[in-house]
Amino acid sequence: MKKIIYSCGHTKEEIGENEIINKKSICPDCKLERTLLGKRMAKDLELPELLGTDSQIESAEGVRLNWITLLLSIDNLEINPKEKEKLKTTLYNTLKNIISASWYVEKHAYKEKGILKYCLDNLMLSKVSWKTINSEKSNDKYAVIYYRYTQGSSTIYFKGAKDEEMKAYLNEHNFTWINNKQFLIFESEDHFAMEKEFSNLVQKAAALGFKIYYEKSCENVL
Ligand SMILES: [Zn+2]
Repeated sequence: MKKIIYSCGHTKEEIGENEIINKKSICPDCKLERTLLGKRMAKDLELPELLGTDSQIESAEGVRLNWITLLLSIDNLEINPKEKEKLKTTLYNTLKNIISASWYVEKHAYKEKGILKYCLDNLMLSKVSWKTINSEKSNDKYAVIYYRYTQGSSTIYFKGAKDEEMKAYLNEHNFTWINNKQFLIFESEDHFAMEKEFSNLVQKAAALGFKIYYEKSCENVL
Protein backbone atom coordinates (compact mmCIF):
# COMPACT_ATOMS: atom_id res chain seq x y z
CA MET A 1 0.00 0.00 0.00
CA LYS A 2 1.00 3.57 -0.63
CA LYS A 3 0.70 5.82 2.43
CA ILE A 4 0.30 9.57 2.02
CA ILE A 5 1.02 11.74 5.04
CA TYR A 6 -0.31 15.31 4.79
CA SER A 7 1.19 18.26 6.68
CA CYS A 8 -1.88 18.32 8.97
CA GLY A 9 -1.02 14.82 10.14
CA HIS A 10 -3.91 13.11 8.38
CA THR A 11 -3.05 10.13 6.25
CA LYS A 12 -4.52 8.37 3.27
CA GLU A 13 -3.79 4.93 1.92
CA GLU A 14 -3.89 4.09 -1.73
CA ILE A 15 -3.38 0.91 -3.66
CA GLY A 16 0.12 0.82 -5.02
CA GLU A 17 3.68 0.00 -4.14
CA ASN A 18 4.73 0.10 -0.51
CA GLU A 19 5.95 3.61 0.06
CA ILE A 20 5.40 6.63 2.26
CA ILE A 21 4.81 10.01 0.64
CA ASN A 22 5.10 13.14 2.75
CA LYS A 23 2.97 15.94 1.34
CA LYS A 24 3.64 19.59 2.10
CA SER A 25 -0.04 20.43 1.75
CA ILE A 26 -2.90 19.80 4.17
CA CYS A 27 -5.45 17.08 3.36
CA PRO A 28 -8.59 17.82 1.28
CA ASP A 29 -10.86 17.66 4.37
CA CYS A 30 -8.75 20.17 6.30
CA LYS A 31 -8.56 22.37 3.22
CA LEU A 32 -12.34 22.47 2.92
CA GLU A 33 -12.66 23.23 6.61
CA ARG A 34 -10.26 26.17 6.29
CA THR A 35 -12.14 27.48 3.27
CA LEU A 36 -15.44 27.45 5.14
CA LEU A 37 -13.92 28.99 8.26
CA GLY A 38 -12.24 31.66 6.13
CA LYS A 39 -15.55 32.50 4.47
CA ARG A 40 -17.34 32.74 7.80
CA MET A 41 -14.71 34.96 9.42
CA ALA A 42 -14.49 37.20 6.36
CA LYS A 43 -18.25 37.67 6.54
CA ASP A 44 -18.11 38.51 10.26
CA LEU A 45 -15.47 41.15 9.52
CA GLU A 46 -17.50 42.47 6.59
CA LEU A 47 -14.76 41.72 4.08
CA PRO A 48 -15.80 41.60 0.42
CA GLU A 49 -16.77 38.46 -1.45
CA LEU A 50 -13.86 37.29 -3.55
CA LEU A 51 -13.91 37.22 -7.33
CA GLY A 52 -12.34 34.52 -9.44
CA THR A 53 -12.84 30.95 -10.50
CA ASP A 54 -14.21 28.44 -7.97
CA SER A 55 -10.83 26.86 -7.37
CA GLN A 56 -9.11 30.25 -7.01
CA ILE A 57 -11.70 31.33 -4.47
CA GLU A 58 -11.36 28.08 -2.54
CA SER A 59 -7.60 28.53 -2.21
CA ALA A 60 -7.86 32.27 -1.61
CA GLU A 61 -10.25 31.90 1.34
CA GLY A 62 -7.66 29.71 3.07
CA VAL A 63 -4.93 32.27 2.44
CA ARG A 64 -7.12 35.18 3.52
CA LEU A 65 -7.74 33.30 6.76
CA ASN A 66 -4.01 33.64 7.54
CA TRP A 67 -4.29 37.39 7.09
CA ILE A 68 -7.40 37.50 9.27
CA THR A 69 -5.70 35.46 11.98
CA LEU A 70 -2.84 37.93 11.94
CA LEU A 71 -5.26 40.85 12.13
CA LEU A 72 -6.94 39.36 15.18
CA SER A 73 -3.62 38.67 16.88
CA ILE A 74 -2.23 42.20 16.59
CA ASP A 75 -3.75 43.05 19.98
CA ASN A 76 -1.41 40.57 21.60
CA LEU A 77 1.72 42.11 20.12
CA GLU A 78 3.97 43.88 22.58
CA ILE A 79 4.40 47.14 20.75
CA ASN A 80 3.28 50.64 21.59
CA PRO A 81 -0.49 51.21 21.36
CA LYS A 82 -0.24 53.85 18.63
CA GLU A 83 1.77 51.51 16.41
CA LYS A 84 -0.73 48.75 17.14
CA GLU A 85 -3.68 50.87 16.01
CA LYS A 86 -1.89 51.85 12.82
CA LEU A 87 -1.09 48.25 11.98
CA LYS A 88 -4.63 47.14 12.66
CA THR A 89 -6.23 49.89 10.60
CA THR A 90 -3.87 49.44 7.68
CA LEU A 91 -4.24 45.68 7.56
CA TYR A 92 -8.00 45.80 7.95
CA ASN A 93 -8.43 48.45 5.27
CA THR A 94 -6.22 46.50 2.91
CA LEU A 95 -8.26 43.34 3.41
CA LYS A 96 -11.45 45.31 2.89
CA ASN A 97 -10.23 46.49 -0.49
CA ILE A 98 -8.95 43.29 -2.01
CA ILE A 99 -11.58 41.57 -4.08
CA SER A 100 -9.40 39.45 -6.34
CA ALA A 101 -9.00 35.79 -5.33
CA SER A 102 -5.89 35.49 -7.47
CA TRP A 103 -4.25 38.27 -5.47
CA TYR A 104 -4.40 36.09 -2.36
CA VAL A 105 -3.31 33.00 -4.25
CA GLU A 106 -0.23 34.86 -5.53
CA LYS A 107 0.66 36.02 -2.01
CA HIS A 108 0.09 32.68 -0.32
CA ALA A 109 3.70 32.42 0.79
CA TYR A 110 3.60 35.64 2.81
CA LYS A 111 4.37 35.05 6.45
CA GLU A 112 3.30 37.44 9.23
CA LYS A 113 6.13 39.92 8.79
CA GLY A 114 5.69 39.85 5.04
CA ILE A 115 1.98 40.62 5.34
CA LEU A 116 2.54 43.59 7.65
CA LYS A 117 5.38 44.92 5.55
CA TYR A 118 3.25 44.63 2.44
CA CYS A 119 0.39 46.58 4.02
CA LEU A 120 2.63 49.33 5.32
CA ASP A 121 4.51 49.60 2.02
CA ASN A 122 1.24 49.87 0.14
CA LEU A 123 -0.70 52.41 2.12
CA MET A 124 -2.40 53.49 -1.08
CA LEU A 125 -4.07 50.12 -1.38
CA SER A 126 -5.75 50.53 1.98
CA LYS A 127 -7.19 53.83 0.79
CA VAL A 128 -9.05 52.47 -2.21
CA SER A 129 -12.72 52.23 -1.46
CA TRP A 130 -14.66 50.05 -3.89
CA LYS A 131 -18.24 50.54 -4.93
CA THR A 132 -20.24 48.13 -7.03
CA ILE A 133 -22.81 48.36 -9.77
CA ASN A 134 -25.00 45.31 -10.21
CA SER A 135 -26.55 45.22 -13.62
CA GLU A 136 -29.98 43.66 -14.01
CA LYS A 137 -28.78 40.64 -15.90
CA SER A 138 -25.87 40.26 -13.48
CA ASN A 139 -24.55 36.74 -13.38
CA ASP A 140 -21.10 35.70 -12.26
CA LYS A 141 -19.30 38.03 -14.62
CA TYR A 142 -17.34 40.76 -12.93
CA ALA A 143 -15.16 43.65 -14.01
CA VAL A 144 -12.89 45.95 -12.08
CA ILE A 145 -12.67 49.34 -13.73
CA TYR A 146 -10.24 51.75 -12.20
CA TYR A 147 -9.68 55.30 -13.29
CA ARG A 148 -6.46 56.92 -12.21
CA TYR A 149 -6.10 60.61 -12.65
CA THR A 150 -2.68 62.21 -12.48
CA GLN A 151 -1.58 65.63 -13.64
CA GLY A 152 0.23 64.42 -16.73
CA SER A 153 -2.00 61.71 -18.06
CA SER A 154 -4.89 59.58 -16.91
CA THR A 155 -5.16 55.83 -17.07
CA ILE A 156 -8.13 53.50 -17.14
CA TYR A 157 -7.54 49.95 -15.92
CA PHE A 158 -9.82 47.10 -16.84
CA LYS A 159 -9.81 43.59 -15.43
CA GLY A 160 -12.72 41.27 -15.91
CA ALA A 161 -14.21 37.96 -16.80
CA LYS A 162 -13.90 36.74 -20.40
CA ASP A 163 -16.50 38.11 -22.75
CA GLU A 164 -16.11 38.30 -26.51
CA GLU A 165 -18.15 41.46 -26.96
CA MET A 166 -16.28 43.24 -24.17
CA LYS A 167 -12.99 42.15 -25.70
CA ALA A 168 -13.99 43.58 -29.06
CA TYR A 169 -15.06 46.85 -27.44
CA LEU A 170 -11.75 47.22 -25.57
CA ASN A 171 -9.86 46.41 -28.74
CA GLU A 172 -11.71 49.02 -30.70
CA HIS A 173 -10.96 51.56 -27.97
CA ASN A 174 -7.23 50.82 -28.08
CA PHE A 175 -6.84 49.22 -24.68
CA THR A 176 -3.57 47.29 -24.31
CA TRP A 177 -2.40 44.55 -21.95
CA ILE A 178 0.07 45.21 -19.14
CA ASN A 179 1.60 43.16 -16.29
CA ASN A 180 1.52 39.77 -17.94
CA LYS A 181 -2.05 40.21 -19.12
CA GLN A 182 -3.25 41.13 -15.64
CA PHE A 183 -4.85 44.36 -16.76
CA LEU A 184 -5.92 46.16 -19.89
CA ILE A 185 -5.12 49.84 -19.81
CA PHE A 186 -5.77 52.93 -21.79
CA GLU A 187 -3.78 56.12 -21.26
CA SER A 188 -4.34 59.62 -22.48
CA GLU A 189 -3.58 63.20 -21.59
CA ASP A 190 -7.00 64.38 -22.59
CA HIS A 191 -8.74 64.27 -19.21
CA PHE A 192 -12.11 65.29 -20.51
CA ALA A 193 -12.12 62.55 -23.15
CA MET A 194 -10.90 60.07 -20.54
CA GLU A 195 -13.75 60.78 -18.19
CA LYS A 196 -16.12 60.11 -21.03
CA GLU A 197 -14.25 56.95 -22.00
CA PHE A 198 -14.49 55.74 -18.39
CA SER A 199 -18.17 56.44 -18.11
CA ASN A 200 -18.90 54.77 -21.50
CA LEU A 201 -16.87 51.72 -20.51
CA VAL A 202 -18.81 51.33 -17.27
CA GLN A 203 -22.09 51.64 -19.15
CA LYS A 204 -20.99 49.12 -21.77
CA ALA A 205 -19.93 46.60 -19.11
CA ALA A 206 -23.23 47.08 -17.27
CA ALA A 207 -25.17 46.52 -20.50
CA LEU A 208 -23.25 43.27 -21.04
CA GLY A 209 -24.28 42.02 -17.60
CA PHE A 210 -21.04 42.60 -15.71
CA LYS A 211 -21.03 43.24 -11.99
CA ILE A 212 -18.75 46.26 -11.83
CA TYR A 213 -16.31 47.34 -9.17
CA TYR A 214 -15.04 50.88 -9.35
CA GLU A 215 -13.39 53.27 -6.95
CA LYS A 216 -15.70 55.43 -4.90
CA SER A 217 -13.91 58.64 -5.83
CA CYS A 218 -14.83 58.09 -9.50
CA GLU A 219 -18.51 58.40 -8.71
CA ASN A 220 -18.74 61.99 -9.87
CA VAL A 221 -17.45 61.02 -13.31
CA LEU A 222 -20.23 58.50 -13.89
ZN1 LIG B 1 -6.16 17.02 7.50
